[in-house]
Amino acid sequence: MNIKKITVAGAGTMGNGIAQVFAQSGFEVTMLDVKDEFLQHGVKTIKKNLARMAGKGKIEKSEIDIINDRIKTTTKTSEAADCDFLIEAIFENFDAKTDIFREFDFLCGSDVIFASNTSSISITSLAAETSRPGKFIGMHFMNPVPVMKLVEIIRGLTTDDETIETVVSLSKKLSKVPLEANDYPGFVANRVLMPMINEACFCLMEGVAEREAIDGVMKLGMAHPMGPLALADLIGLDICLSILRVLQDGFGDPKYRPCPLLVKKVEAGHLGRKTGRGFYTYD
Ligand code: NAD
Repeated sequence: MNIKKITVAGAGTMGNGIAQVFAQSGFEVTMLDVKDEFLQHGVKTIKKNLARMAGKGKIEKSEIDIINDRIKTTTKTSEAADCDFLIEAIFENFDAKTDIFREFDFLCGSDVIFASNTSSISITSLAAETSRPGKFIGMHFMNPVPVMKLVEIIRGLTTDDETIETVVSLSKKLSKVPLEANDYPGFVANRVLMPMINEACFCLMEGVAEREAIDGVMKLGMAHPMGPLALADLIGLDICLSILRVLQDGFGDPKYRPCPLLVKKVEAGHLGRKTGRGFYTYD
């Protein structure tokens, strides 16, 4: 299938970034969310990002309007179903994701590939909720999407080779680097990253060091561009917690138990940058 029209479900942190990179690469994009205000926030973020990129000379100023014009928004699944490729980036919740995939499964043509940007939910089990398990794949972008090169491509147990090839080639068209992983909890990226973030939370909770020192050790000592606590704030503490729970449930290994301080922060609604407060505070 010649993929031209993309639907991105979810206009949040990841969804608007995904919509932007597809539009920048010439695809027609429909962004779907549950409320118009979430869509407008997504559109505003994209406009801000494009203006910043033009300011840095990464794109031409004249391209901004052309890219923005490629992005349509809707709150109606029926309007978003006319697409060649669907990528879902809604909340990290199995039931919410299966609901939306079932709806699209009913509305979309049988040749449309469904992808999930999930950080940790099993691609195989999401695929099994649809009538197209062969055409179901994980396409895991990194945050911030317009900046990060990697796309982790997740092969579910039932994903067919043609779907893998199509999505690898699609990722390259977005100027990303696709790397393949099999469908195990956390895939590769989060299976390695989240235990590190969790240990940083334990270090803070146990008073091993101040937050700046914990982040500083990893930046200056390990050449990480960002410390783990600052990174957790960027990802969203709720997202980090739900990934740790998936790892804990999936492997049944207590080494993945979420740090109580992380749990408390999420309970308090201190979710990181998106709420203005996490391990650090933001304007
Ligand atoms: P977010 O909370 O910023 O955005 C989620 C958006 O989905 C919200 O705007 C919400 O209104 C919308 N939504 C919820 N239900 C919907 C529905 N039924 N239909 C349409 N829209 C709906 O979340 P996020 O950080 O963008 O994460 C989205 C997905 O991407 C999650 O699966 C997450 O695990 C994954 N992910 C996140 C990161 C990260 O760093 N935040 C990185 C990689 C992958």
